[in-house]
Amino acid sequence: MTLSRRELLRGSLLTGGAGVMASLAGLPFSEAGLAAAPKVRIQTPGMYRFSVGNFEVTALLDGYIDADPTLIPSYDGLKATQLYQDQFRPPLAEKIRIPINSFVINTGEKVILIDSGTADNMGPTLGQFTGNLKAAGIAPESVDAILLTHMHVDHISGITSKDGKALFPNAELIVHKADWDYWNDDGFMSQAGDFMKSNFVNARAMSAPYLKRLTLVEEDIEVLPGIEAIAMPGHTPGHTGFILRSEGQELLIWGDVVHFTALQFAYPEWSIVFDSDMELAEKTRRKMLDRVSADKLAVLGSHLEFPGLGHVARNGDRYSYHQSSWQYTL
Ligand SMILES: [Zn+2]
Repeated sequence: MTLSRRELLRGSLLTGGAGVMASLAGLPFSEAGLAAAPKVRIQTPGMYRFSVGNFEVTALLDGYIDADPTLIPSYDGLKATQLYQDQFRPPLAEKIRIPINSFVINTGEKVILIDSGTADNMGPTLGQFTGNLKAAGIAPESVDAILLTHMHVDHISGITSKDGKALFPNAELIVHKADWDYWNDDGFMSQAGDFMKSNFVNARAMSAPYLKRLTLVEEDIEVLPGIEAIAMPGHTPGHTGFILRSEGQELLIWGDVVHFTALQFAYPEWSIVFDSDMELAEKTRRKMLDRVSADKLAVLGSHLEFPGLGHVARNGDRYSYHQSSWQYTL
C-alpha cells in the first residue's frame, strides 16, 4: 500500500497521530485508533534493579499496608500533616501508607534473598512478592541463601508454601540467633497478644522446611562473601542489618530501622508498637541514622518508599531522607 502525502495529511487531520499509524499499518481508519483507549488501572510490576560495585540488587515490592497512627504512641497529627506538606506528598489520610519491600542480591557467585513479603497473610493490598520475583526473571531454584532481617510476618511469609514446602528448594536459611531463640520460645509466645502470637506460629511454620539447612548468626560477621551482618536490636531481639561491600562501594540494608519514610527521619523518637523494645529500637535508629549520615552510606529499607534506596542527611538532631535517582545502566 502506498500513501500520498495528501492522504497521510488527511489521516492525521481527521484522527490525529493514531489515524496516520492506522493507515500506515494498512488498516482502514474506522477499525483502529478511533475509540478512547481503556485505562490499564493497575500499576506496573514492582521491581527495580541497581548495582553496588559488582553486585546486582533487585528490589521487589510486596504491596502496601495502611498503618493506623495509633501504632505510634508519640504521634502528633499536626507535625505529621506539616511533614507531608513539606515533602509535597498527597494530604495525610487517616492511615499512613507504607510499602513492604524485599531484595535479591546476585553477587556473581551467589543469589541471595533478603526477606520475602507477606504471602496471603495480610490482605489483598499485599502478596505480590512471588509475582514480582517472577517478573524480575529470578528463578526460586537459583537462590542459594535466604537472609532474614527478622522473622515478622511481613518478612518471612514468602519462603514456604501453605502446605509447608520450601519455595526456595536450594537455599540455606540464615537468621540471627537472638531472633530465632525469641520466636521459638514458648514462654514469650504465651505472653504475646493475638497478633504477635500469630507471628510466633507463622515464624515457626515458615522456617520449618529449612531446619536442616539453617545457620544462626551470633555476632557481627561476614555471613557470605561481601555481606556483613550487623545486629540492630529493638524492633525484634535479633533484628539484623546487612552491609554489602563490592569494589569499593557499600550499601546498608537496614530492615525495619525506619517504618515511616515521611515521619521517622524528622522524629526518630516515633517508635512503633510492634517494636519488641521501643526504647532500644529508637536508640538503634538514632545510632544508624548517625552512622549513615556521617559516612554518607546508602541505605535500603524494607518500608522506605519503594524501591527503598536512598541517603540520609543530618540536620541538628533531626534527619532527612533523599531517595536515590534512577540507575539507567547496570
Ligand atoms: Zn516490617
